[in-house]
Amino acid sequence: MIIPQSIQDAAKELSALPGIGPRTAQRLAFFLLKRPDIINDQLAESISKLQKTLSECTTCQNFTESNPCAICQDPSRDQAKLCIVESPIDAYNTERTSYQGRYFILHGALSPIDGITPAKLKIPELIDLITRTANKLQEGRNPDQETKLEIILATNPTMEGEATASYIQKHLENITNIQCTRLARGLPMGADLEHIDEVTLERAFQGREGF
Ligand SMILES: [Zn+2]
Repeated sequence: MIIPQSIQDAAKELSALPGIGPRTAQRLAFFLLKRPDIINDQLAESISKLQKTLSECTTCQNFTESNPCAICQDPSRDQAKLCIVESPIDAYNTERTSYQGRYFILHGALSPIDGITPAKLKIPELIDLITRTANKLQEGRNPDQETKLEIILATNPTMEGEATASYIQKHLENITNIQCTRLARGLPMGADLEHIDEVTLERAFQGREGF
């Protein structure tokens, strides 16, 4: 039996989404077919609105409906902390912690083989932002206290993420008044030691702290 062309077309579009294989795409197409038109229209409209209403904040590169974004505009955020992450979702997750600084979103990690270069990740813009922020902190500082800009390299602990963090750190060597940190790596909550891979365990040992 031949699947109708319209279903095949919808499935083809859906299978381009991350994590959706051809069979799931087909199931979704049949599911959408059974839903009321009005619900499908709302879905289509919200998808089409995404690119029309959102742009990238020119300071942190996160998606925003106003430029600069709410976080970059907020004077109560800690100006002396800048957290560099690969994706907007990483920043939204970090917002669930006690972190109160600012962000820079790379929208990926370095991968020359896939054509993801420092320019594509806006690393030159990042270095410029760090230089300006570090200078501003230095100018406005209280003479009794040193205010260094902390750069938190929160890229993923993957080969690409590590390479990206190293690349950024190397290009910050000549900037004064900054300090680079990397997120601690170790054991996930609720894990059994017997199931932890040796690289994670080794890093957890290296990063052990006072108790
Ligand atoms: Zn912003």
